[in-house]
Amino acid sequence: MQIKSAEFLISNSKVDKCPQQRLPEYAFIGRSNVGKSSLINMLTQRKNLAKTSGRPGKTQLINHFTINSNWFLVDLPGYGYARVSKKAKKEFQKFITNYFEQREQLISAFVLIDCRHEPQPIDLEFMEYLGEHQIPFSIIFTKADKLKPMALKRNIEVYKATLLEGVWLEMPNYFVSSATNTTGRDEILAYIDGINEGMKE
Ligand code: GDP
Repeated sequence: MQIKSAEFLISNSKVDKCPQQRLPEYAFIGRSNVGKSSLINMLTQRKNLAKTSGRPGKTQLINHFTINSNWFLVDLPGYGYARVSKKAKKEFQKFITNYFEQREQLISAFVLIDCRHEPQPIDLEFMEYLGEHQIPFSIIFTKADKLKPMALKRNIEVYKATLLEGVWLEMPNYFVSSATNTTGRDEILAYIDGINEGMKE
């Protein structure tokens, strides 16, 4: 897929205020600092489309971008801040679950995982939540340029083994990406394009 246009549309704090257009929607989510903004900018070939988060946990908004006038890319807030209060965490959870449970246009989520780290409970729990609610998702392992190929392969194997030991019967669909050298760009965009095209038939 070529990105002919990528435009910021609107930010919302509530799912019922999100755009009404019936365009297929793909949501990007992950821990703060996982590389979500960099990935979105890399995918869309725009330097500052998604703002790299200055103050983690500050802006909890659902950000809609219109791509090629025919699909929505959604930038969701990063989760897993150590410093926010319990109350703030609960509110955040509600905000995110409202989005996932109510947004009818949502086709699939991309859960971003930093390829350097061991599987973290917060990510595993979030994927379980998506599974329980039958919300389709793919994993994107980010920052692949930071590991040598063997180490990358090993970490993905560890991730896979952890998921299969848990609630998963098979490894969810996954991609490997780097915002630095554009690894994964073609694959992720082709995947989205394939679904969008399939829906036209
Ligand atoms: P966000 O908080 O998830 O939006 O993460 P950012 O996109 O702001 O990235 C967090 C940090 O990781 C920044 O310093 C980025 O430059 C860096 N980063 C993000 N993606 C990559 C990548 O693919 N490769 C490398 N080497 N660094 C990355």
